[in-house]
Amino acid sequence: MDTINIIDAKNHVDQEVKIGVWLTNKRSSGKIAFLQLRDGTAYFQGVVVKSVVGEELFKMAKELRQEESFYVTGTIHEDARSHFGYEIEISGIEKVGASEDYPITPKEHGVDFLMDHRHLWLRSKKQFAIMKIRNEMIRATYEFFNRNGFIKIDAPILTGSAPEGTTELFHTKYFDRDAYLSQSGQLYEEAGAMAYGKVFSFGPTFRAEKSKTRRHLIEFWMIEPEMAFMHQEQSLEIQERYVAFLVQGVLDNCQYELKLLNRDPKVLEKYTKLPYPRISYDEAIKMLQDSGKFGDLEWGVDFGSPEETYLAEHFQLPVFVMNYPKAIKPFYMKPHPTRDDVVICADLLAPEGYGEIIGGSERAVDPQYLTEQIKKAGLNEADYEWYLDLRRYGSVPHAGFGLGLERAITWITGEEHIRESIPFPRLLNRIYP
Ligand code: ATP
Ligand code: MG
Ligand code: MG
Ligand code: MG
Repeated sequence: MDTINIIDAKNHVDQEVKIGVWLTNKRSSGKIAFLQLRDGTAYFQGVVVKSVVGEELFKMAKELRQEESFYVTGTIHEDARSHFGYEIEISGIEKVGASEDYPITPKEHGVDFLMDHRHLWLRSKKQFAIMKIRNEMIRATYEFFNRNGFIKIDAPILTGSAPEGTTELFHTKYFDRDAYLSQSGQLYEEAGAMAYGKVFSFGPTFRAEKSKTRRHLIEFWMIEPEMAFMHQEQSLEIQERYVAFLVQGVLDNCQYELKLLNRDPKVLEKYTKLPYPRISYDEAIKMLQDSGKFGDLEWGVDFGSPEETYLAEHFQLPVFVMNYPKAIKPFYMKPHPTRDDVVICADLLAPEGYGEIIGGSERAVDPQYLTEQIKKAGLNEADYEWYLDLRRYGSVPHAGFGLGLERAITWITGEEHIRESIPFPRLLNRIYP
């Protein structure tokens, strides 16, 4: 008999199969036992009927312990009442690994408890669904950029400089020199774009975020495309097509997972319609001021979660906010052609309270301007000689952006907190397990 996965049950209706499983829960009476089973591909129910399997096997089934592993053999049936749609009528059980008292019981547990047991909590239906959606979004990312002529250029993780500001840097020793963990691969992607046209990086980034929020991790994954011969308007089109492609991928391939999370696909369908609205930072400030909800908010401030939530809620769609004040953005953004107080950039704000999922800009090309900005930002000029070379040898208009994978996952899955979106979250007070 072939061993199959639960996910393939639909191809084996009324057939006898064997599956390696763990027990997640059970309930039984004197005559029938219902075993909740998982195998990493899906969750479904096994039914053991005493009058069919006999005394001995029925007793074994009733005494199985939570998270014990075993093989079941039996016949697949349709089960219209379950999320999954199929169940197995069990005729045999072959034990594999015993389980001690499992710390995560079907009752509710607190956040800290679940975080301490993250290595086990990954087995839950909720985490299963989120990790499958994460995987789909990673798959769709590679498909999107490959289809659109990008090549992946990996940025280094250990760097000698700190473009996004020094307050959130992780410092380490690099033999007898100083080094930092990468906060962004962008500057290296710019070198990649000048070499290969359209490139992207997709790797871990690190920020010593010193405040606790629902949207900040210490270690997170960022997708950073960079494109030569490209202005900001075209970059915005690629950004929205990419985000819509991620949403569509989840709709096409993760309906079961969305069901497990109670995430309404109709809500997500709205986010596949393009274009997304675009407003300027100036307009955003006016909207926030007119709402009367933000006290004496003035032009020039950066937005936090309440402002971003308000703006995206207004449109009920992801919205681009364009051309922020130069003073609150990094040194490499292209100055506006007619105004010296703003730069050519945009953040994409997700609706439903999730805030910024993309930050991007056209890049400054004038080496003199960049040198001044580097000085103003208090950065060490010598660290950026190589970066200025990119402007000295055949510089072209170019633009790029960074999408935070976990931010996007949290939004698409509709989760409350970003810690759910990565297998082993690194948070302000947590580096275990
Ligand atoms: P925020 O304003 O939310 O702190 P940021 O402007 O500092 O974000 P960028 O430097 O623009 O972030 O980084 C690009 C993207 O990386 C962001 O749009 C977001 O999706 C993601 N990101 C930034 N910081 C974090 C973090 N600490 N944890 C998870 N994702 C993050
Ligand atoms: Mg930040
Ligand atoms: Mg920001
Ligand atoms: Mg940003």
